[in-house]
Amino acid sequence: NTTHFGFQTVDKTEKVHKVAEVFHSVAAKYDVMNDLMSMGIHRIWKRHTIACSGVRSGQKILDLAGGTGDLTAKFSRIVGPEGQVVLADINESMLNVGRSKLRDIGIVGNVEYVQANAECLPFADNQFDVVTIAFGLRNVTDKDAALASIFRVLKPGGRLLVLEFSKPEQEALSKVYDWYSFNILPQMGKMITNDAESYQYLAESIRMHPDQETLKDMMHTAGFEEVSYQNLTGGIVALHKGFKF
Ligand code: SAM
Repeated sequence: NTTHFGFQTVDKTEKVHKVAEVFHSVAAKYDVMNDLMSMGIHRIWKRHTIACSGVRSGQKILDLAGGTGDLTAKFSRIVGPEGQVVLADINESMLNVGRSKLRDIGIVGNVEYVQANAECLPFADNQFDVVTIAFGLRNVTDKDAALASIFRVLKPGGRLLVLEFSKPEQEALSKVYDWYSFNILPQMGKMITNDAESYQYLAESIRMHPDQETLKDMMHTAGFEEVSYQNLTGGIVALHKGFKF
């Protein structure tokens, strides 16, 4: 009944608690750290995800592990008053930061906030046109359960987009990236949030996450069809897409 939390082997319930602590600890500074750590590039990855989502006015979208709501804000504008966006996240602190940020920028009316675990989503079957999970899946303890749960709540014809750190295509890029992740990131975390450990976990969890082909296979196993992926920034990040027919 064990899994991994970064490079440590831990009990499955312990991972849930540890991940909760990490996001509780980083919530207040999450957005500023995201910009710093990725040098703003996460915005481009997210914009690309929106472009590939095919989301249209009037649709119902689930932004799972939505955190501070970057994708939700963009979806809310696209689906308009006839549509709906559900921002679901397991972590109350992240949800609170997301909710107040979106309200501050005037995103109200078509967004609902739900505290939920991706492994057992509290929604009826066949509800959503599109589900996104951005930089969330690697933190989920039982990823297969999460993919099955997402499949269940998607409408037939709906699509899932998984934006997540992945495996760099080039060995040289991989080396530079490893050095950056294990030296610079925890230092930045320490300086800005006084929390090197959380950023150490985030770097380790990226290394432990299934690579492009493995995640593609997992999506097939969960029932998704026409599964494909695109490497972004040399495979540092990959965007997987799959359909429920
Ligand atoms: N999607 C946002 C973004 O791209 O900026 C937030 C990503 S943040 C790195 C990961 C989020 O996953 C956190 O808000 C965390 O609480 C959430 N999370 C972790 N495990 C989860 C689970 N089992 N179910 C739902 N959300 C989860």
